[in-house]
Amino acid sequence: MKTKRLSRRDFILNSTIGASALLLGPALSALALTKPDKRLGIALVGLGGYSSGQLAPALQHTKNCYLAGIVTGTPAKAKSWAAKYSIPQKNIYNYQNFDNIARNPDIDIIYVVLPVSMHKEYTIRAARAGKHVICEKPMALNAAECREMIAACKKANRLLSIGYRLHFEPHTLEVMRLGQKQVFGKVTKIDTGNGFTYNGDPNAWRLKKAMAGGGGLMDMGIYAIQGARYTLGQEPIAVKATQQKTRPQLFKEVDETVFWELKFAGGQKVTGKSSYNNDWSYLQVEAEKGNFELQPAYGYNGLNGKVNGKPMHIPNIIQQAAQMDDFATCVQLKKQSRVSGEEGLMDMKVVDAIYRSLDSGQWVNIV
Ligand code: NAD
Repeated sequence: MKTKRLSRRDFILNSTIGASALLLGPALSALALTKPDKRLGIALVGLGGYSSGQLAPALQHTKNCYLAGIVTGTPAKAKSWAAKYSIPQKNIYNYQNFDNIARNPDIDIIYVVLPVSMHKEYTIRAARAGKHVICEKPMALNAAECREMIAACKKANRLLSIGYRLHFEPHTLEVMRLGQKQVFGKVTKIDTGNGFTYNGDPNAWRLKKAMAGGGGLMDMGIYAIQGARYTLGQEPIAVKATQQKTRPQLFKEVDETVFWELKFAGGQKVTGKSSYNNDWSYLQVEAEKGNFELQPAYGYNGLNGKVNGKPMHIPNIIQQAAQMDDFATCVQLKKQSRVSGEEGLMDMKVVDAIYRSLDSGQWVNIV
């Protein structure tokens, strides 16, 4: 933990985030309880696209935590990050000496931002090193790994959170309110999709089953599964899925486009899809007496929403800053995050069931 004087810029940003917290109501009001000059130290593990493009910049806007350390296998990145973010040499680790982080009081939280196949190992090592953990989505390769991660964090008495930034995003919170509180009566139908057209490196880890666990479903579909779950505030009980491949050479090992239907106890019609070959980001909800939608629904460059055809007029925020600040508050208050390991596990149970359904061509139970 580090004591830091607030600059005028920090003050303005904190005031903005404070205003967002008010907008968000009790959900984020815990932010206001924390002392503004006591920040928890976060170490990012894996300095790829998401860490460098989103998390490190967002950590310049957080008020309960700050970028205290990094873990990287690339010495050149260690050097450039140290210079850019004023990270002291003693807070820089590589994958060999990672476990020494246990002895570093500057680091309170380890944020795992690695290929999916490495999430379990680094989450467990972080917890054993006595650190609280945020692990990026998808939580792990499958539900069994998620259970191991949850058990290891419980055993080490450390909190575990998944990088589900949208649970702190105001349009998304509004959709949760409209759906779960049945503002327009019961939700009858949800259709949602998330995807992008992959034109990247054909040898990237995202296209390797052993490292990614799967393709568009693991990476993008997880948001659409979440979208249905948080709109209803209920858990699906069964799923039936189909898939399509238009570029089989590129997607040799992983899924390209997947379509699914989820069965909920309430009988709502819920369809979803994911893709590495279509630019989708939408969530459309019909209820007994109205409808609402988000489009884009799942990105971090600004969401848009409509309720009964009229714009929501809700401001966008820096989602990752709100997400990390909330976890720092949870750590300070010793309170489970609303995006806990169990939340990540639930999505992976659905993903596992979708893959089983793709194999069997049948409806399968989500267990
Ligand atoms: P990336 O490929 O850009 O970065 C991965 C990092 O892991 C790189 O720095 C790489 O050097 C490092 N690494 C360490 N060992 C490696 C190995 N054996 N093979 C490959 N890379 C290795 O990926 P990314 O886009 O930053 O994604 C990282 C994680 O963040 C993934 O779980 C991804 O799903 C997640 N993510 C989340 C969001 C979000 O909005 N929450 C957005 C993007 C990515």
